[in-house]
Amino acid sequence: AKSSGRGRHVVFDRKMHEQAVGRLEMESALARAVVNREFHVVYQPVIVTESGELAGMEALVRWRSGTGDALIPPDEFIPVAEETGIIVEIGNWMLDHVCQQLAAWRKQFPEYPDLWCSINISKIQCEQPGLLSAIVDALARHHLQSHVLKLEITESAIMHDMNRIIPMLEELRALGIQVAMDDFGTGYSSLASLRRFPIDILKIDRSFVQNIDRCRTYSAIVAAIATLAQNLNMAVVAEGIETTGQLAQIQTLDCDYVQGYLLCKPMPGEQFESWLRERRS
Ligand code: C2E
Ligand code: CA
Ligand code: CA
Ligand code: CA
Repeated sequence: AKSSGRGRHVVFDRKMHEQAVGRLEMESALARAVVNREFHVVYQPVIVTESGELAGMEALVRWRSGTGDALIPPDEFIPVAEETGIIVEIGNWMLDHVCQQLAAWRKQFPEYPDLWCSINISKIQCEQPGLLSAIVDALARHHLQSHVLKLEITESAIMHDMNRIIPMLEELRALGIQVAMDDFGTGYSSLASLRRFPIDILKIDRSFVQNIDRCRTYSAIVAAIATLAQNLNMAVVAEGIETTGQLAQIQTLDCDYVQGYLLCKPMPGEQFESWLRERRS
């Protein structure tokens, strides 16, 4: 028993060591990635539920590491980038890149005078005193009005540091920049606490949406969330719609916008542009 116990200990140590090395490697690879511009952006359309028209899009970061040609998913590298603080640089790059792209598309596609783009903001970025001026500067640099850029902040980030974030959300609102609460339903806020947050958009997490056609409890929850949000003058987005059954269920509820693989997958800029062009003809 003793030896097997020690054996287990050794295996455990080795695994921890490998994880630590992997982590360190990722940290330095991420630092290089910023310098070497290894990031790009994909855009996922956000669709008006009633009309099927394009409303705007969500920008999502992608990282193709220089050491291989594999795409590393954001769920893997964002937490590391947050811990090292590199997320601030990635976030600033995203802001500038997305504003530049949005400005170009708004000129190129005047048939969408209200076209907007949302960008995900990490809780670490929210802690930076320079976030607001970085946003205002990026908008000014690309001659964009504030209502065409929306920020997505997760429910758990907002809940994590409410006393700091609520005044920031109020400042953003005063600047005309709308904020969406992302992944709603996965954090710890109660439905009743929603009224305390100065947010304009509520994105219902896909874990609810994806069970909506299978389980009555889920559709009852989503219906309740949507009704409350509408009463609080928020726009409601149902994200992660993958099946026609899910879409049909959502269409019976009061959701303004839909997003998901069924409607459109996230696409690199060039592909998004040809998608926009195809919709013209
Ligand atoms: P999120 O903000 O909730 O973004 C939605 C995620 O769901 C995206 O994954 C998107 O590709 C995926 N998705 C869209 N439609 C569907 C669907 O129908 N089914 C399923 N299963 N998935 C769908 P992605 O791009 O891998 O991003 C994962 C998360 O990483 C994001 O979740 C967000 O929290 C974070 N993230 C992505 N880009 C950025 C960024 O630029 N900055 C920051 N801070 N975080 C980012
Ligand atoms: Ca998001
Ligand atoms: Ca989300
Ligand atoms: Ca998510």
